[in-house]
Amino acid sequence: MTRSAPDSCPGVLRLHEAADGPLARVRLPGGRLTPEQLQVLAEAARDLGNGALELTSRGNIQLRQLHDATELSQRLTAAGLLPSTTHERVRNILASPMSGRVGGWSDVHTLVPLLDAGLQDAPALAELPGRVLFTLDDGRGDVSGLGGDIGLHATAADEYALLLGGLDSGIRLPGADAVPTVLAAAHVFQDLRGHFWRVRELPDGVARITAALPHTPGEETLELGVRHDIPIGWLDQDNGLVSLGAGVPLATLPARTAEFVAATGRPLLVTPWRSLVITDLDEDIAETVAGVLAPLGLIFDATSPWLRVTACAGRPGCAKSHTDVRADVAAAVTTGRVLPAGAETTVGTDLDAGELEVAGRQHWSGCDRRCGRPAGPVTEVTAGPDGYTITPGD
Ligand code: SF4
Repeated sequence: MTRSAPDSCPGVLRLHEAADGPLARVRLPGGRLTPEQLQVLAEAARDLGNGALELTSRGNIQLRQLHDATELSQRLTAAGLLPSTTHERVRNILASPMSGRVGGWSDVHTLVPLLDAGLQDAPALAELPGRVLFTLDDGRGDVSGLGGDIGLHATAADEYALLLGGLDSGIRLPGADAVPTVLAAAHVFQDLRGHFWRVRELPDGVARITAALPHTPGEETLELGVRHDIPIGWLDQDNGLVSLGAGVPLATLPARTAEFVAATGRPLLVTPWRSLVITDLDEDIAETVAGVLAPLGLIFDATSPWLRVTACAGRPGCAKSHTDVRADVAAAVTTGRVLPAGAETTVGTDLDAGELEVAGRQHWSGCDRRCGRPAGPVTEVTAGPDGYTITPGD
């Protein structure tokens, strides 16, 4: 696919003009967020936006209906959430959320600041498209299958496979060489890419980037599948503390709820599944936190139907939408029409929202662009001018 225009990914300094007003996307490399930063975002959402934070599938946060972009950028800069004016849109780094706390070969969160700093220190990499995604997987396989461009996948305690275009390049790296090689691959891609935005779009991209690196690929390669691995509920950490994984209905976190989360005072993670993790809690504190946050709408039950559904923005945020998708999804969840996997799904086209019963993982869209569709098998519930069409997942 050849691209004829620069990518239009929004940031804080370049807002997206959505149908309901300007939208900002705040990059959170590794999905990492301090409680103080979440408090700043909550206040910004309430003072300058529509009062809610949207979690994205790249572990970022979006603010909608902004009316003072200058004030927003000043607040985020002061909070350390906008460390670069030149590289903000290339800081797209996913990391295995529970790495370093629960399982995994290594703690890839220690690599996040190194990669982030390396990106920001390289003037040429400011020209990477905002679509480029870096992935750091600690070997559990939760983020390597999420469609990254350049990534690391731990294969032992101090060894990483280099991923290019979501595939194992065959190159194996000791820990000390891992981030420098990712940065070298990013430079090669930037040199080669022309009008292409993603490694997988570049003809022979994986082979050409591999050939330009000073490493010889081996013959064995990993098969990297897509895993739907949301950390939800009580998660015992390896160090005796507890993390709480919290689902966020339709990935929209009201500012007031965000302030309650920030009040825990613990490090926070935004996951690629648009959920939160509150980390490093003592057991008794964790029980109290869950008891406070569950009534506010956060989900700690892994069987909740809210965890089966994702949706695009729909109306009023997107002018292309045929309907208010999120209202239709919410009605389906609250009236018991989002069913467990294996149950019977309504079939057909031009269906009324109120008659849909859909089983298993499902993505609802306001038009056939299907923005935000998660990777892997998922039933598509897509609005058209005359109603919804259901396309079952594999
Ligand atoms: S899928 Fe269609 S309606 Fe939904 S956000 Fe994308 S363009 Fe808009």
